[in-house]
Amino acid sequence: ILARKAEKVPAVTPEIRELAAGMAETMYANQGIGLAAPQVGASIRLIVIDLSGPDKREALMTLVNPVITAASGEQEDEEGCLSVRNYRTVVKRAANVTVEALDLDGRPLVIEADELLAVCLQHEIDHLEGVLFIDRISRLKRAMYDKRVKRWNTTPPPDQTNS
Ligand code: ZN
Repeated sequence: ILARKAEKVPAVTPEIRELAAGMAETMYANQGIGLAAPQVGASIRLIVIDLSGPDKREALMTLVNPVITAASGEQEDEEGCLSVRNYRTVVKRAANVTVEALDLDGRPLVIEADELLAVCLQHEIDHLEGVLFIDRISRLKRAMYDKRVKRWNTTPPPDQTNS
């Protein structure tokens, strides 16, 4: 499911709201700041983000059918992912993005983002396209990652927190 392109949400139903609430709980429980529905096994275009983190939980954003309508500039930040355990690396992203989506009441909203929010939106929306951050790194870095995973398969590393 993680490698698949997710389906558009046809309508914001109570089931979608329930799934979104469950995703927020999963995100917080795993010390994450963002989560996309395919990460919990639902191949639909739904993401949750809360940059305030699992302790504060005061900036929860739920986006249905998010689309990046504009992107500019460049920034590089270290990223991790709840679906890619024990690996963080620097990824090149757009510095500014405009995202259009629906909220949980089905109302359209427009978000202008930069810095960490821009990174997080791009990371989560990538999940809806079946793209992971490790698909966006250099071939050399990816080869090193794949080698590490192979080693982990024989001796698993201790669990770490990821965003
Ligand atoms: Zn991720």
